[in-house]
Amino acid sequence: ASVNNDLLARHRAVLPSWMPLYYHDPIELVAGSGRRVTDAAGRTYLDFFGGVLTNMLGYDVAEVREAVERQLRTGIVHTSTLYLIRQQVELAEKIAARSGIRDARVFFTNSGSEANEAALLFATNTRRSNQVLAVRNGYHGRTFGAMAVTGTRSWSASSLSPLQVAWLHFGDRLRGAYAGLPDADHIEAAVADLREVLATQVGGDVAALIAEPIQGVGGFVIPPDGLFAAVREVLDETGILFISDEVQTGWGRTGTHFWGYQAHGVVPDLLTFAKGVGNGLALAGVVGRAEVMEGVPGISFSTFGGNPVAAAAGNAVFDYLSRHDLQANAERVGSLLLDGLRSGLRDQPHVAEVRGRGLMIGVELVRPGGTVPDPAAAGVALEACRRDGLLVGRGGLYGNVLRIGPPLTLTEAEAREGLAILLDACRYRSD
Ligand code: PMP
Repeated sequence: ASVNNDLLARHRAVLPSWMPLYYHDPIELVAGSGRRVTDAAGRTYLDFFGGVLTNMLGYDVAEVREAVERQLRTGIVHTSTLYLIRQQVELAEKIAARSGIRDARVFFTNSGSEANEAALLFATNTRRSNQVLAVRNGYHGRTFGAMAVTGTRSWSASSLSPLQVAWLHFGDRLRGAYAGLPDADHIEAAVADLREVLATQVGGDVAALIAEPIQGVGGFVIPPDGLFAAVREVLDETGILFISDEVQTGWGRTGTHFWGYQAHGVVPDLLTFAKGVGNGLALAGVVGRAEVMEGVPGISFSTFGGNPVAAAAGNAVFDYLSRHDLQANAERVGSLLLDGLRSGLRDQPHVAEVRGRGLMIGVELVRPGGTVPDPAAAGVALEACRRDGLLVGRGGLYGNVLRIGPPLTLTEAEAREGLAILLDACRYRSD
């Protein structure tokens, strides 16, 4: 028995059984450098999932490590919410300036779930309504409110919801009513769906729509550009707020834009961020228009949200991102990967779609020739990648989509190396 097996047995004995673990033989990561991680057995992997898109700059980045160490050495690591925190103010200034939101305010939390919870709090209080709109197949987190607006059955528990949620259908482009529609018709259908939901499913004021510009956990589902602008016009008729969940799509990951919402020519009232901003350290939050952020009667705070250590990491990450123009790199290297996957997998009967933006790329696997999801094929490809030294993720409503979200510092050589492994792992095997 390896060290790993012993740890796995202990994991199983003490953690709840629903904690998901990848691979038949789960991995314990013990070191990382650049875009590579090493496991307890001494194997090194190229990492195309980056700890579920939390590792934006790569592993062991000197600037981030030094910023965190500097803060640690001051001895001030607690959140000190009742005192001024220089790191937090500086980071908030940078995020507000970059948010695209006019007169923006920033509130820090520790996780994406809490950020969405806070955004829902601000929106429902501002609008004095607990009715919200959410999108089928979306994912927003594990707190009560965030769970209520999460639209995949395996993740949601909306029957216990503190919110009244009405579900919108923005479209799976492979199957269902919107399949194969040209963008303009797709948008028109989504807007018609929204109007119908507003007319028939809700009564009285609706507080907000919460949506991901590209669905992450849902399998990197990309709505047509401009969809949210069309939706926003309808929301504006009755003052419904728009919350853009940028937990996976923020910080330039999509290449063409810094935030996912920008692909739609629309500005949200609130946006939520998490994952990559701390390059792995727990840091998240909400940015929003002052009127909405001030909508909470009384006070709100998070004990650890935006603590000096996490905020120091956030500042270092933000500066690094800007200095190295990682958004441009995500676009360039992402295109190389996307094009390579598309052309290399074109003839594979079980690859229904290769889709992506920047370094957020999904490969959807189905039974040969159709659109019936094949989660087993995704499992086989995941294991094959691992065997050949590449970590990727998996998602989608049916668990049949490979998710590729490497650090934004990925080099062309690394992209080609991973591409070769992916092409081989996704080859159709009839046995
Ligand atoms: N929103 C989105 C779009 C996410 O992908 C996630 C996490 N997968 C969350 C919210 C929740 O974030 P956290 O796990 O940090 O609470």
